[in-house]
Amino acid sequence: MSEEETEAKGSVTIIGLGPGDPRLLTESARIALDRAQDLIGYIPYVARVPEREGLVRHASDNRVEVDRARHALELAMSGRRVAVVSGGDPGVFAMAAAVFEAVEQGPADWRNLTIEVEPGITAMLAAAARLGAPLGGDFCAISLSDNLKPWDVVTARLEAVLRAGLSVALYNPISSARPWQLGRALALAAEILAPSTPVIFARAVTRPDEALRVLTLEEARTAPADMATMVIIGAPTTRLIERDGRLPFVYTPRSVTA
Ligand code: SAH
Repeated sequence: MSEEETEAKGSVTIIGLGPGDPRLLTESARIALDRAQDLIGYIPYVARVPEREGLVRHASDNRVEVDRARHALELAMSGRRVAVVSGGDPGVFAMAAAVFEAVEQGPADWRNLTIEVEPGITAMLAAAARLGAPLGGDFCAISLSDNLKPWDVVTARLEAVLRAGLSVALYNPISSARPWQLGRALALAAEILAPSTPVIFARAVTRPDEALRVLTLEEARTAPADMATMVIIGAPTTRLIERDGRLPFVYTPRSVTA
């Protein structure tokens, strides 16, 4: 291949916008957004980026992330500097994996593009920070969406980590198309953990409509949630520090005795 053929043309930067509050966007992400010529993403995320001259916005309601990723890569091949935006961190149940899946399956010359990921503060860390340190020990994150994996896989993974004593952050707990998954997940948790285990429902963290609840596992089973909610199931070691008239602190000690 000649040098001209291997030369990277445009670029794709996959940017995490953080949980909502613009102050939680990293400086590095802000610089990448300022440099972009094209902005691609799901409508609510594109809407978070201020309009400016020289920035072409491609807000899509297409839920097929790989299609959006291909669009970004095609634009970059035509020489454009493309920003693909996700809420939170783009590597956490978001666009980064979709872009690399498209690259892996796509034409060989897509691999010569400059492709970079700008991390963001993911919802579980923003939610955990609001309440103390519920993820202070070992923890894991599971998406309850069964759009991209069978529900049996979700429950097998959830059961394994609950039995192992980890705190678990549940993303995509519920939506109008998936109304029952959270109830099943909490029913499974109730078979393994004490009814008093702390469970956090953190909705729209760092946005104007933020709502935080600290419940017991028993209470959580009938508590309402929506797609802007992040659920954190405490580990057996997770504790509350009660406070008058305020939410308790929730923390998981780092130390675990044998
Ligand atoms: N890439 C995102 C996650 C995308 S999956 C991130 O790193 O945060 C979408 C799910 O993330 C939602 O269903 C919800 O469970 C969670 N989520 C995203 N932003 C949130 C916020 N500000 N507050 C609470 N949960 C949030």
